[in-house]
Amino acid sequence: MIRLILLGTANAIPDMEHENTYMALAHERGVVLVDCVGSTVVRLQQAGISLSAINDLILTHFHPDHVSGVPELLMSMWLDGRSDPLQIYGLEHCLDRLKKMMDLFDWKTWPGFFRVDFHCLSGTEGEVVIQNEQFRILASPVHHLVPTIGLRFEGIASGRVIAYSCDTEPCPEVIRLARNADILLHEASGCMSGHTSAEKAGEIARQAGARRLLLIHYSIKGSVLSDLVSEAKNTFKGDAGLAKDFMELEL
Ligand SMILES: [Zn+2]
Repeated sequence: MIRLILLGTANAIPDMEHENTYMALAHERGVVLVDCVGSTVVRLQQAGISLSAINDLILTHFHPDHVSGVPELLMSMWLDGRSDPLQIYGLEHCLDRLKKMMDLFDWKTWPGFFRVDFHCLSGTEGEVVIQNEQFRILASPVHHLVPTIGLRFEGIASGRVIAYSCDTEPCPEVIRLARNADILLHEASGCMSGHTSAEKAGEIARQAGARRLLLIHYSIKGSVLSDLVSEAKNTFKGDAGLAKDFMELEL
C-alpha cells in the first residue's frame, strides 16, 4: 500500500500540534519526501520512517517554511552513514538557492559525504517528476510569490489520485492539476497575495471535480479551525475537512 503521510499542516507559523506543511510518500521501495522543514528527523522517527528509506526529495519552492530543514536532514543522513545517492527535484530558482544555502555550510568539505543528484524541473504544466510501476508524481507551476510547483500523486494499481496545491493563489493550473482527484490537499492560508482562502479552496475543489477536500497550510493563530471547514463547505458540497499532522492518506 502506498501512503501519503502528512508530517505538518500549518502555514508559515507552526505550533506544538502543527508543524509547517510537508509530507512523505511511503511506497514499497522507499520514501519520497516533499519539502523539508522543522524537526524533520524527529518527525520522521515519529512517523516510523527511517532516514535511509528516503531516496527522493521534492522541493516545491524556496521559502523557509518549506526548505529550512534540508541542511539538517542532509547532515543527519551523512552522520547516519548514508552511502546511497539522494535525488533532489525542484525548479531552478529553488535548486540554485538550495545549493547556495548548502555552500554556506561548506558541505563539499564534509568527509565521505554521499552523492546528491539534482533534477531541475522545467516548470511546464503536468511535468513528470517521478514515474515507476507503482506511482507517478506530476508537477505544475502555481501562482505564489516565488516560482512554485503543485503536485499530483497517481497510484498506478489503485488508480487513485491525490493532488496538492502547495502555496498558491486560486489559479487554473491547480484546477487542472486536481482534475477528478480523490483527495485535494489545498492550502487555506487566507485571502492574501500568493495564497487562497478556505472558501476559494472549496471553489477550486468543486471546479476540479475532486471528491474530497482537505484544507492544509492553514493559519493556527487567530483562526477558528472549524470555521475554515464551514467556509470551504459554502463552495464545495463534497467531503471537506482539515488535514492534521500525521494523517495518512492511501494512494
Ligand atoms: Zn508556505
